[in-house]
Amino acid sequence: MRTSLIVGNWKMFTTPAEAADLATDISRRLDGFLGIAVALAVPYTSLAVVGPILRGTGIDLGAQDLHWEDRGPYTGAISHGMLEALGCRYVLVGHSERREHFGETDHQVSLKVLAALRGGLLPILCVGEKEGDRNAGRTRAVLRRQVSRALEGIPAGSGRHLTVAYEPVWAVGTGRAASPGDASDAHQAIRRQLERLFGHEISRSVRVLYGGSVTPDNVQGFSGESEVDGVLVGGASLRGPDFVRIVRGGWERRPIVG
Ligand code: PEP
Repeated sequence: MRTSLIVGNWKMFTTPAEAADLATDISRRLDGFLGIAVALAVPYTSLAVVGPILRGTGIDLGAQDLHWEDRGPYTGAISHGMLEALGCRYVLVGHSERREHFGETDHQVSLKVLAALRGGLLPILCVGEKEGDRNAGRTRAVLRRQVSRALEGIPAGSGRHLTVAYEPVWAVGTGRAASPGDASDAHQAIRRQLERLFGHEISRSVRVLYGGSVTPDNVQGFSGESEVDGVLVGGASLRGPDFVRIVRGGWERRPIVG
C-alpha cells in the first residue's frame, strides 16, 4: 500500500532564521491536514532549527544529500549518522543538480543509497533524462540504467524503504513540467525496472514521485494519475501558500493502489 508523499526541496535557499519562518508558516497552514505524507528537505544548516518546529506536526524532516561513508576525513561532507541525530527521516540522493554540478556518478549514488539505508534513513532516489535523451527517444533506457545502477547491491528486502523521484532534467527549475501522461509512462518504466530488481510485491510498495516545475496550477494533473504517488517540489516549496496548495492538490482523494 502506498500513501502519497509530497516533498519540498529548499535547495541552497534560506538562512536558519528564514527556514524557521517558512517551516512555521507551512506547518500552521497544514495544521490538521492528515492522510498523506509531507516532508521538507532543508539545507544542512537549518536542520537543527527546523527539526523542533516540525516535531508533532506530521511533517517529516529531510536532507538534500549525504556522504556514503559512515565517518572519516571527508571535509565538508555529512554522514547518515549526523542526519539521523538531527531527526531526519528522508534524504534526497542523486538529485540532478548534484549529478550535474558536482559530478556525482551512478556508482556514488548507489553508495549513498546504501549508506542511507544503513543509517535507517529513507532515501529518495532521483532519476531523470536530459533533454537530448528525451529527443532521441532514450528516456526509458536512461531511467532503466539509472535505477538499476543506483540500486545494485541493495537487498530486495530494503526495497520497501525506497522512494524514487522521476525528475526529467529539462523540467527541473525551468517552468516546463512534463505532461502528466508522460510522467505516468516514465513511472511505469521505473516500476518495471524495480520489479526486475526486487520482485512484484516489493516493487508495488515503492513510491514513485514526479518532480520538475510542479506548481499549484498544474498539480491536479499529477494527482489525477494513479502511477504518480506524489511530487518533489523545488521552487514552489519556498513559498508557503503555494507549497500548501500543492499538498492539498487532490492527493487525499486518490485511490490507494498497491
Ligand atoms: C527539484 O528541486 O527537485 C525540483 C523539482 O525543482 P523545481 O520544482 O523548481 O523544478
